[in-house]
Amino acid sequence: MKIEFYRHNLGKKDSANLSRALKDLILTTGKTVERFEEKFSRYLGSRHTVGLTSCTAALQLSLLAYGIGPGDEVITTPMSFVATANAILHAGARPVFADVDPETGNIDPGQVERKITGKTKAIIPVHLYGQLCDMRRLRKIADRRRLFLIEDCAHCIEGEMDGVRPGQLGDAACFSFYATKSLTCGEGGAVSTNNARIAALIKRLRLHGMSSGAGDRYSLRYRHWDMDLLGWKYNMDNLRAALLLDQISRLEANWKKRLHIYRSYIDGLQGIPGLSFPAVKGKSALHLFTVWVDPLRRDRILGILQDKGIGVAVNYRAIHTLEYYHRLYGFRPKDFPVAWRIGASTISLPFYPKLTAGEIDYIVANMRSIILKKR
Ligand SMILES: *Cc1c(COP(=O)(O)O)cnc(C)c1O
Repeated sequence: MKIEFYRHNLGKKDSANLSRALKDLILTTGKTVERFEEKFSRYLGSRHTVGLTSCTAALQLSLLAYGIGPGDEVITTPMSFVATANAILHAGARPVFADVDPETGNIDPGQVERKITGKTKAIIPVHLYGQLCDMRRLRKIADRRRLFLIEDCAHCIEGEMDGVRPGQLGDAACFSFYATKSLTCGEGGAVSTNNARIAALIKRLRLHGMSSGAGDRYSLRYRHWDMDLLGWKYNMDNLRAALLLDQISRLEANWKKRLHIYRSYIDGLQGIPGLSFPAVKGKSALHLFTVWVDPLRRDRILGILQDKGIGVAVNYRAIHTLEYYHRLYGFRPKDFPVAWRIGASTISLPFYPKLTAGEIDYIVANMRSIILKKR
């Protein structure tokens, strides 16, 4: 048996939308991007969405739009993909890690409070695996200390907890449409915000700081444009937007399929000594299915699963343990002991709507026998 770690879910409707976009005169940022931005805002219940080339760009431009840069500190989690901390460096600021909650792996608001200094300007929580962070508490901390709250929603579009959805309490919410995400166009991202000034600023920052969009440059009569702000080249194009349009309508149906798979996994794997699961509270977006095993056995188990033809990933080894961050700040693994332990225990299993019942049974049976075999 060969079970890929991930298989995308693009189909006929997406191909048709892409073909239509290819026949259009404008291939770059134009009407299709606008349609995507409106549809995604409607789904989220937020006022503005700006389509970009990645979540990394979304995080960087959100920080810059809120005026964060050199000399500033931004508190974030070490239990994330490197993009979260790298984007803070790209903005010229310093990432300050706060350790995570041992039940969910999400940033611990108590640890965040302890890390606030006179230089702190923002907090970037990550809704890890799809589980929302404690946004009400983070919002209170941010308000009390006058900090911006920028959400890394790369794992969480469909989630809700305590009546809060992604983007609703944050000053900006950053999304990824990278190849393995629940909504994908290969590479892409977006910022959602209720702040009209910030949305307009990010629209300029995504295209060199020019005074009009690239679409306008060709579709209207020629007009001189100006540039009075140094921006980047992070604008989403119509082809990618076309791939995203119909997928937004399918988000809930696909989430229900993952919920079904999630329940099958939990039923099959619970009660095994030495195997635990991140806590799920409220509605998790269920982006990844991750289990935690004994750190001393983790790498061996990863090897055996792959020998059995089962695709695996590790989301993630803690960022502060990676060589670059060690070199830059002298971090040691035990500086953030919970994130370190989770990062050393983590195994992500295949988890996508196309996974079949037979494949799930095969994965569960192998997990059981590998873990229960002599320790
Ligand atoms: C995928 C991911 C990102 C980066 O997204 P890109 O679109 O590839 O830049 C950032 N944060 C988290 C938590 C991710 O999983």
